[in-house]
Amino acid sequence: MHIAPEKISSKTDKYLIKDIIAKSLDLQILSLEEVSRLMSIDDERLWGDVFDASRRVKEKVYGKRIVLFAPLYLSNECVNNCLYCGFRIGNSTAKRKTLSTDEAVSEASLLSKKGYKRLLLVTSENPKFAGIDYLESVIKAIYDKTDIRILHINTQPMSVEDFKRLKASGVGVYQCFQETYNISAYKKLHPSGPKADYNWRLNAMDRAIEAGFEDIGMGVLLGLYDWRWDIGALIVHSHRLIKKYGFGPHTVSVPRLQPAEGSGLTRSKHTVSDTDFKKIVAIYRLALPYVGIVISTREPAGLRDDLLSLGVSQISAGSKTSPLGYIAEGSLGEDTDTAQFEIADNRSIDEIIGKIAESGLLPSLCTACYREGRTGESFRHLSEGEAMKNFCEQNALLTLKEYIEDYAPADIKPLLIKRLEEEVGKNGSGILEKLKLIEQGKRDVHI
Ligand code: SAM
Ligand code: SF4
Repeated sequence: MHIAPEKISSKTDKYLIKDIIAKSLDLQILSLEEVSRLMSIDDERLWGDVFDASRRVKEKVYGKRIVLFAPLYLSNECVNNCLYCGFRIGNSTAKRKTLSTDEAVSEASLLSKKGYKRLLLVTSENPKFAGIDYLESVIKAIYDKTDIRILHINTQPMSVEDFKRLKASGVGVYQCFQETYNISAYKKLHPSGPKADYNWRLNAMDRAIEAGFEDIGMGVLLGLYDWRWDIGALIVHSHRLIKKYGFGPHTVSVPRLQPAEGSGLTRSKHTVSDTDFKKIVAIYRLALPYVGIVISTREPAGLRDDLLSLGVSQISAGSKTSPLGYIAEGSLGEDTDTAQFEIADNRSIDEIIGKIAESGLLPSLCTACYREGRTGESFRHLSEGEAMKNFCEQNALLTLKEYIEDYAPADIKPLLIKRLEEEVGKNGSGILEKLKLIEQGKRDVHI
């Protein structure tokens, strides 16, 4: 993939930027040239306009809801040697672990008892211990034995045949980050293992789509290479998928490089500042208006709180990045397995739900779209036509009601009830009947 340098404009044209913002507010996808113009803005007031538009675009597509999930790490035994990662094979001091199916179910049950309905399974790459047979059995067991309603997965690129089995097991989103699109940086950072093959990773989304996945999650690991270049490349990759299949990424994640124990990358000249991080979120939101933008607990609490009103639509909460991390948390003093990287926001799901409600937004534990077939092209058309917002806000209210009934601690209950009542007042009477059903004990009520 090559981005011509002349496409990266250095001049800021105020009127042109206003036109680009208007195009995004009309929920149209931006061209690479328009994205590069946004990246080159050097007037802080114009950035203020971009941030404001980012929030408005997110609210047009998804309303006020912010979806919550937790990662569940299945394995840290990896055959790759990604220099930035604590799980890499070259980290000889790492304490390694692959969860048994029963252990995975125990971790998922623990999370489900806290109120989570959506988990992101995460694995290192290890065909022997964490290949498709293993993933199928873990996924089936979690669905059969816990109240978790949807499992997404962040795992290695597979063959079309294995992707078909993964899809058939009931996974919602297949997520895989290109890390960097720059070939020479990629080669240096991934010296050995299957991940050293740049093209195998680049074409993973085509194979996943060919196998039947309509919801795919993309990203670059910010801090590995020049972020402007990598984001431009991810946008071009998305354009290609949209042209070929009628839909592009369902989600775009914004992982930013964190210190990791045993990492072989001590310094990066491409470190992304908090200010640039906010700009990146806003650029993605304007460039691909309908995508879910996902932010993890790699980022500190204050920054995550700011980002809630800047275009982000999904956040993880209460995360652990080691296998058995949730169980180990409850057994103090135990020597834990190696974590992938350091977590910067250690707040619990309850605290984050409280924070979202306090900010005038709507915490959501909704999983309806994946189970109702609102995926791929149909999801994209619903979002572009602004119909998704209605689904999202109503389902956010219904899952918030369930959370209040089943999980909310006493100290945040009054705040959540007040927030629910405020929003119910703005919705039609249809929602009242559904809320009543939840009060009467019915669960998983959604539209
Ligand atoms: N092993 C699979 C892979 O590499 O695609 C999937 C799981 S990997 C644990 C998930 C993602 O974590 C990687 O794609 C990478 O972007 C991110 N990651 C790895 N090391 C990191 C670090 N030190 N800081 C932040 N994110 C990191
Ligand atoms: Fe393994 Fe993924 Fe870490 Fe690379 S990023 S070492 S593939 S777990």
